[in-house]
Amino acid sequence: MNAAAGSVVAIDGPGGVGKTTVSRGVARALGYQSLDTGAFYRAAALLVKFHRTDPEDEAAVAAVLSGADLDYRDGTMLVEGVDVSAAIRKETITAASSRLARLPGLRLVLVERQRAWVAARGGRAVVEGRDIGTVVFPGAGVKIYLDATPDVRARRRAGQTSTALGEVATQLGRRDRLDSTRAASPLAPAHDAVSIDTGALTAAEVIAQVLELCRDRGVEPAAGPARR
Ligand code: C5P
Repeated sequence: MNAAAGSVVAIDGPGGVGKTTVSRGVARALGYQSLDTGAFYRAAALLVKFHRTDPEDEAAVAAVLSGADLDYRDGTMLVEGVDVSAAIRKETITAASSRLARLPGLRLVLVERQRAWVAARGGRAVVEGRDIGTVVFPGAGVKIYLDATPDVRARRRAGQTSTALGEVATQLGRRDRLDSTRAASPLAPAHDAVSIDTGALTAAEVIAQVLELCRDRGVEPAAGPARR
């Protein structure tokens, strides 16, 4: 399944670091599609809640997800054909998604869905998450690890929501801890990832650095009109 991963651009990093903005900008420039894998974990949390499944019952959670129709199109997360993009951003779903993401059985199901999504696009995609360069696409052509201090990330995230800065910082810290200390696919840079500290850079500057790396590594824009 990873045979065609050479054109994948993997973008990992903690919450609030700018992954989505950067992924979308890089994808636009390359003429690729971008996949936000976090939306799959959030959709899983929504489904588990909807079906009143015990979130600690790994087999039951995996069964609910195995049978679910999940799709991601143009930045929109669809569950059973319904746009859940707004519902999955609610605070309760955000917190529940990080707890569910500890379960290896759930991750197996979602990782297969993510690989199939990329394969259906000929292996040309910008994929963001926590484990893309380490687990989902270890053969990705370009691996980026975006980072920034907890303070910078909390300020950025607070600017996107109506939640107070202190509360945003607490929630991000809790998710960082869960994501980086879990046994299954913890958040960590791949050994061959290029780390970029986004703290002092604009999104455009980060996107330009990633595109430069794509050129160096032979990750070519999709055929069609020149995009850069
Ligand atoms: O990226 P986002 O914050 O939307 O992801 C929600 C949660 O899903 C993360 O806190 C993390 O626990 C989980 N996640 C993951 N692996 C990914 C993407 C997201 O474990 N590749």
